[in-house]
Amino acid sequence: MTDSTPVPDQRQRILEMADRLGVKFMRLQFTDILGAIKNVEIPDKRFEAALDGRIMFDGSSIEGFVRIEESDTYLRPDLSTFRIIPWARTGEKVARVICDIHNPDGTPFPGCPRQALKRVVAKAAERGYRMTAGPEVEFFLFHTREGEPVTSTHDAGGYFDLTPIDQGEDVRRHIVLALEQMGFEVESAHHEVAAGQHEIDFRYDDALATADNVSTFRFVVKNIASQHGLHATFMPKPLVGAAGSGMHTHQALVQGERNVFFEEEGRWQLSETCLFYIGGLLRHAKGMCAVTNPLVNSYKRLVPGYEAPTDIAWSEKNRSPLVRVPAARGRATRVELRLPDPSCNPYLAIAVMLAAGLDGIDTRTDPGPPVNKNIVTMSRRERRHLRIDELPGNLSEALDAMEKDDLMRETLGDHIFEHFLEAKREEWYDYGRQVGPWEVGRYLKMY
Ligand code: GLU
Ligand code: MG
Repeated sequence: MTDSTPVPDQRQRILEMADRLGVKFMRLQFTDILGAIKNVEIPDKRFEAALDGRIMFDGSSIEGFVRIEESDTYLRPDLSTFRIIPWARTGEKVARVICDIHNPDGTPFPGCPRQALKRVVAKAAERGYRMTAGPEVEFFLFHTREGEPVTSTHDAGGYFDLTPIDQGEDVRRHIVLALEQMGFEVESAHHEVAAGQHEIDFRYDDALATADNVSTFRFVVKNIASQHGLHATFMPKPLVGAAGSGMHTHQALVQGERNVFFEEEGRWQLSETCLFYIGGLLRHAKGMCAVTNPLVNSYKRLVPGYEAPTDIAWSEKNRSPLVRVPAARGRATRVELRLPDPSCNPYLAIAVMLAAGLDGIDTRTDPGPPVNKNIVTMSRRERRHLRIDELPGNLSEALDAMEKDDLMRETLGDHIFEHFLEAKREEWYDYGRQVGPWEVGRYLKMY
């Protein structure tokens, strides 16, 4: 498990390795509240200071980070995340290390998403649990024209298609190689349903390591794609009438080596703990949606017909619902939340998912019966009869639901909760003032 307490040996090993490999720069990396990677780059002379957490930065320039009067913060690296970046634009070797943000007095900075996740991980640990999480990250590869990304792709591939149709295959292979060089265990990489759409799955890990991985993954994918003159996007729904990109997240709780979601004698061979966890995910689905699906555009993905969830239900058979229990049992028992999309802040998204599941366990929330019929083809009446509720229809509804869900405030802490809502309300407000091509096309002539 990752931990930011500096281990003297580790520090020494990193310094020696950096010296031996001729690492010239180190990026001290962190994410802002909205999930964008930020970094402060330092030259080799400052490596020791950096590893000791003595590098200060002025956080007031970063989205949602600080109030002006408290803008000095310190970057405290998690030494286990030290990696050499496997490409060099200027020929100089660059390494990175992921950091937590601290106040000058050493206390955690309340706007640090990584530490928000650590708090929930600690809450799980108090109950004897460790979460494992495995995301399936989907993305599009698009062309660029004069350096600007466009939404065209010459790729006519479909699910699992092979070359020559799949033009993204070479790029994807380079992405996988770069990921492996950065310590990822890639399990599979394939074309997704839409033209230009891909998915790369890497091995599950602890909650914190997985959040770090998602953040690194997006950085690697974007960089390698751009080296090939392509633009990689994690925008959830870039094309009208085509599948969007999800970040289905497989999750389980383990106690030592034991997967506590599995129970030989249990119904569906699932433990009560697993069912309560599902109950928690369902109960907080609306409240957490703004975090797991944070863009105006996220809600264009959550529509029927593209294998994305729209209703709050679970199943141990069907693929369409919000929560699916894959067939594997024993140590591989897990639940898959199909809600998140890859534009989310992975630290906050995993934090709210885990918090929702734990809350389900604490409050013994019954998830109700599984819905094994295809929800998409059900009538509204049928859904109401089964008491199947819908996910928020747009960002504004999701923000309202988030604001009403006390668990979200408690999980994110006041600082992140307030800043997140404020930034997202502004985004929604800005969107509301736009007049788009759909409206012009639909109304201009008719009225
Ligand atoms: N692209 C789909 C989504 O938006 C998922 C497709 C799949 O099942 O892998 O969630
Ligand atoms: Mg997929």
